[in-house]
Amino acid sequence: MMINEDVFELYESQARTYCRSFPATFDVAQGCYLYDSDGVEYLDMLSGAGALNYGHNQAEIKNTVIEYMQKNGVLMSLDLHTEAKKHFIASFRKHILEPRNLTYKLQFTSPTGTSVVESAVKLARKVTGRNNVICFTNGFHGMSGTSLSLTGNRSKRQAVSQGGVTRLPYHGYLGQDYDSIAFYRKLFTDSSSGVDLPAAIILETIQGEGGVNVASVEWLQGIRRLADDFGIKLIIDDIQAGVGRTGKFFSFEHANIEPDLVCLSKSIGGIGFPMALLLIKPDMDIWAPGEDNGTFRGNNLAFVASTKMLELFWQDKTFEQELHDKEAIICNALDKVVISCGEYIKESRGRGFFQGLEFYDETIAVAVTQQCFENKIIIETCGERDQVLKFMPALNIPSELLRDSMERICNIIVSVCEDFRSCAIENSMISEGA
Ligand SMILES: *Cc1c(COP(=O)(O)O)cnc(C)c1O
Repeated sequence: MMINEDVFELYESQARTYCRSFPATFDVAQGCYLYDSDGVEYLDMLSGAGALNYGHNQAEIKNTVIEYMQKNGVLMSLDLHTEAKKHFIASFRKHILEPRNLTYKLQFTSPTGTSVVESAVKLARKVTGRNNVICFTNGFHGMSGTSLSLTGNRSKRQAVSQGGVTRLPYHGYLGQDYDSIAFYRKLFTDSSSGVDLPAAIILETIQGEGGVNVASVEWLQGIRRLADDFGIKLIIDDIQAGVGRTGKFFSFEHANIEPDLVCLSKSIGGIGFPMALLLIKPDMDIWAPGEDNGTFRGNNLAFVASTKMLELFWQDKTFEQELHDKEAIICNALDKVVISCGEYIKESRGRGFFQGLEFYDETIAVAVTQQCFENKIIIETCGERDQVLKFMPALNIPSELLRDSMERICNIIVSVCEDFRSCAIENSMISEGA
């Protein structure tokens, strides 16, 4: 059948986004590559915005999924008990929770990130009997009701009520030396501050959409202490930073803190399947049966894929060590480009495989993504002005390919900066001449 090439433009809603930045029609994907209808190969540095930490169609995970389908394994099961879910729970406990001395109970919510955030906040409010929730500048927690009210981005936040939310400056928002913890403490202590004692504090340890803003270990520990002192539940939204992205399974492991609630989604589905998981401190699990329901909480393909992912990568410390070694490849490349394009780049920052390069001028960052796309590389920007280039390679990318990819992207950055430099020189000659 011949299909009009404009089906998207003609019939798909204006709401679409990523496809506007990367206008191609993709068909096949393998590892770190996407292929369009003509078989043209694209290097994928977007990794499904963090939902493809283990790349496209990872062979062992894919084969496990195919086998499960071949035997007519249950696909959709609401929240009925299935063998697939049983194995997932057991292996999540064995490979992830127990080695880290964590005792969380697992709640399967509707399979998107925003749903698990909704559940986390709802539960924290129920447990504490308080309503207010603290969230942070530049945070992103999803696009539905409560999650959206917690999200910073103004254009996204339109048409949602902001009730029951207090937004405070994230670590570093007022400069690295500003003691924000002392400020929050004062707000909670002073009964006339206008800020009600909150049920929860929700945060990303690295703000993904907000610009790869990295919370310091000290700040995270300060938040944990503050939450303890005021009976506030700490929710870590690890939807983007979790499942290995920062070099450890959970991003908060770097700070050695234990949240009360943890939100996981994106890569927890193993191979890009929708799934979301709320980790709950056992004493907080006071839901009545069915109190937080949803139809699609039993995506067994995701359970099967996720179980395989845990077995392949998180049985022992080998993979973590590899991530640690490979992180240096990314950071070394970024350090070099910061030196050669210093006047245009504010800094590079991140943890593990979650790295950002902040430009002073967002037009350079955007020009870099466009040049990358011309060169068949998919990489996106983030931050309030799109001024940060976000590096999110698959975690299992081979070292050689990672080195090569970083070199390709850094060469493009250098050449875009050179273009801006010669433009600036030309402009200054014109204005001197005038
Ligand atoms: C992507 C994301 C969400 C929302 O997940 P959806 O599946 O898009 O609803 C929430 N929080 C963070 C930190 C995210 O990166």
